[in-house]
Amino acid sequence: MERLSGIPASAGMATGPVYLIRSEALRAERTATDDPAVELQRLDEALTRAAFEIEALRRRTFEKVGAEEAQVFEAHALMLSDPALVDSARALIENERVSAAWAFQAAGEEMAEMLATLDDEYLRERAADVRDVAGRVVRILLGRPAASLLGMAEPSIVVAHDLTPSETAQMEYDLILGFATDIGGPTSHTVIMARTLGIPAVVGLGNITERARHGDRCILDGSAGTVTLSPDIGALDEAARRQAAQEERKERLAALRDLSATTADGRAVELAANIGRPAEAANALKYGAGGVGLFRTEFLYMDRPTLPTEAEQYHAYQTAIETMAPHPVVIRTLDIGGDKQLAALPLPAEANPFLGLRALRLCLERKDLFKTQLRALLRAADHGPLRIMYPMVQSLQELQAANALLAEAREELIAEGIAVGKPEVGIMVEIPAAAVIADVLAPHVDFFSIGTNDLIQYTLAVDRMNERVSHLYQPFHPAVLRLIRQVAHAAHGAGKWCGMCGEMAGDPVAAPLLLGLGLDEWSMSAPALPAVKEILRAVSVAECEALARDLLMLSDPAEIRAGAAVFYASRLQQP
Ligand code: PEP
Ligand code: MG
Repeated sequence: MERLSGIPASAGMATGPVYLIRSEALRAERTATDDPAVELQRLDEALTRAAFEIEALRRRTFEKVGAEEAQVFEAHALMLSDPALVDSARALIENERVSAAWAFQAAGEEMAEMLATLDDEYLRERAADVRDVAGRVVRILLGRPAASLLGMAEPSIVVAHDLTPSETAQMEYDLILGFATDIGGPTSHTVIMARTLGIPAVVGLGNITERARHGDRCILDGSAGTVTLSPDIGALDEAARRQAAQEERKERLAALRDLSATTADGRAVELAANIGRPAEAANALKYGAGGVGLFRTEFLYMDRPTLPTEAEQYHAYQTAIETMAPHPVVIRTLDIGGDKQLAALPLPAEANPFLGLRALRLCLERKDLFKTQLRALLRAADHGPLRIMYPMVQSLQELQAANALLAEAREELIAEGIAVGKPEVGIMVEIPAAAVIADVLAPHVDFFSIGTNDLIQYTLAVDRMNERVSHLYQPFHPAVLRLIRQVAHAAHGAGKWCGMCGEMAGDPVAAPLLLGLGLDEWSMSAPALPAVKEILRAVSVAECEALARDLLMLSDPAEIRAGAAVFYASRLQQP
């Protein structure tokens, strides 16, 4: 028996045989050509073939997994026409008179190496996508068939060095019990897919591909981040016991789907989902979402050379609204800048992008762009209950400037004879300044939604992307909890409601405390909904208010979290 430790990437336990994937790295040799024109022609044909293959994978992933997971292949398709890649391969063929396969391999390698040196973890991991695309084109140019990964005959745990999106997309998901890889980070494509499909995964295991043998039994614990090779009877018994408990919990949570989000003493709360694409609204309903509490519209603007038109946006918002109706949809206006960049709107580099010209600040500077979005939103509001939400509001003046533009857009549309709806208008409270002056802002909004991802980073001065200070990123810090209480209190004082759409809203252990602090609405990734509903249905408002009072007397975030965890466990004891 041997236990390997890695990074927990997707929760859950799995036991089964190892399915070892050894991807052979196909290398093109540097060969000279007398006729660069022929090689250029071959490259064009290979790019077309690659586009067909990628489209097939995109469709399969879209159907079997989901719209968001399929996006990676849209990005792959775009890479096939990226001048940085294709033109440099063409230049190599023409200037150095080399084969198309070697030229594309060299161009891909150069681009991947450039990405791999970037600070941004997300962009760094995109190096794997470039290698995936380049590998595909090289394979086609070398005349080799695509390796099939569909050979799995029985449910197995996939063990690989790293899995490219293309490899993952070809698998029979129904037969995959778990994923274990040598390398890979928490935002890699395999991890995102595994989480969406509910498949346990551990990445960053070092050299599991050398230690594991094809067909050996193993236990994978996606929550602890361990893989046990050739486990003994004791370890297998323990794993079986935990798996049974896991199954039982899954069934219990599935049964909650159609039950109301009401506390034990009858307070109705709103439990909603965060989405990034209109197509995800349907998935949110599968988990029993009572609405969408955050539609991040950035995704409509990303990975494309031009900005989305008013008509395009209108249709996207309308789709989300009509899918969710009669439930409400909160659509957040563009939150670009910070860690998110647009090809269609290159922004100058900033020393502190998270403190820079992002989100509403940028929209108020680029009023043309903002107005287009506001017009699309007002038109979409005619199709169902829409709530518009501005991100990164810092002062009353910013909120008023945004509202003035919204009023202008409304007047324009009415003058043009175009139908508009009457959406609620609220703000994200994610800058401490907004939380502190929540009482000043409350009369001017219909609702608040607390963005804890940013509120925590700004309140505690902890970069949310920096692993070296991640131990200081504490949702249960008393400063954060006091701000949440203050924001909810200010909302209620003005007769408004207060929600939360940061990651903290999806933590079931935090839910009773948040109810006690005055939260009315929770919005989270859809799979997190049942567990939050389960605990909220088991508690009363009064006891949660008492819990919040007690825990806010403590000063240590770890103690506060422990107190919340003890309360959580005490309420979920099954008879
Ligand atoms: C937040 O800041 O909590 C939030 C929900 O927004 P984002 O994660 O998109 O910044
Ligand atoms: Mg934010």
